[in-house]
Amino acid sequence: MASKAAGSSSSASLEQGFEEEDELLMMIQGSESGWVEARTSCDHLGSLSSDLSHIPTPDNPCNRCHHPSENWLCLSCKDVLCSRFVNKHMLQHYHQINHCVALSYSDLSVWCFACDAYLDAQVIMQLRPVYETAYILKFGEAPPFRAR
Ligand SMILES: [Zn+2]
Ligand SMILES: [Zn+2]
Ligand SMILES: [Zn+2]
Repeated sequence: MASKAAGSSSSASLEQGFEEEDELLMMIQGSESGWVEARTSCDHLGSLSSDLSHIPTPDNPCNRCHHPSENWLCLSCKDVLCSRFVNKHMLQHYHQINHCVALSYSDLSVWCFACDAYLDAQVIMQLRPVYETAYILKFGEAPPFRAR
């Protein structure tokens, strides 16, 4: 039933259920939203928390300085910490205890400090669930290209 070609007319009609179009959608996203440089693999995922289905909500303040928004979630210990543009508490956290993979609550991108690169959370299977959870917490609905 994969009869539907990728619609060139963008609309809100991609809500649900087209698993076969997922790859296509990701490619489209990748080329248009600045995700092109995101890595699709990372050697530092072994330290990720084993329970990433329960994470703090995106409106949590930085646990150190209480900066209210656009913080990062450490995917190893689920600490919420501010960005390098605020008080660098996530960066500090990495230097102090080497937790290198963090998810941005401002745009839901995932950064690996050790790789010094963005990771593609829609491709890397270990990151996909937490990306989806964060997306739901932030937007109140599942991402349109959700995995099964
Ligand atoms: Zn890495
Ligand atoms: Zn902070
Ligand atoms: Zn941590």
